[in-house]
Amino acid sequence: MAIERTFSIIKPDATARNLTGAVNAMIEQAGLRIVAQKRVRITREQAETFYAVHKARPFFGELVDFMISGPVVVQVLEGEGAIAKYRDVMGATDPAKAAPNTIRKVHARSIGENSVHGSDAADTAKQEIAQFFAGNEIVG
Ligand code: ATP
Ligand code: MG
Repeated sequence: MAIERTFSIIKPDATARNLTGAVNAMIEQAGLRIVAQKRVRITREQAETFYAVHKARPFFGELVDFMISGPVVVQVLEGEGAIAKYRDVMGATDPAKAAPNTIRKVHARSIGENSVHGSDAADTAKQEIAQFFAGNEIVG
């Protein structure tokens, strides 16, 4: 399998509980390398652009409000099959349905406040990385 890059966000519910290091440890234990990382507050406009695919969903407003409610840590993760691997490490969207020892099973509070985001495909990974990082900020 090829070396890939995926985009990750440690969401406000996790940064509020000081879980950045705990989440990063789970990422690294899975064999993924954090090749870019910064702690930021995203704007409403950035959150709306980022989750534009969900604009028509009933939870869109709640999702955007949540994503701007506190700091987030945006990251680029690199490794063999990184996109699918990180989705496995994250676990299902709803923590009640997430597999044991996944980030969401261990740390998420609810389907909305679910601690992490990870890209779902190669095209979205590329697009999401470009929304938050310049090429020279990613050091593999
Ligand atoms: P993400 O895109 O954040 O990695 P995901 O791909 O597992 O999560 P999506 O279906 O893309 O899930 O939903 C995006 C985000 O919207 C979820 O992570 C969650 O924060 C929020 N969300 C999804 N479904 C619901 C819901 N039913 N109620 C509230 N929030 C939801
Ligand atoms: Mg998604």
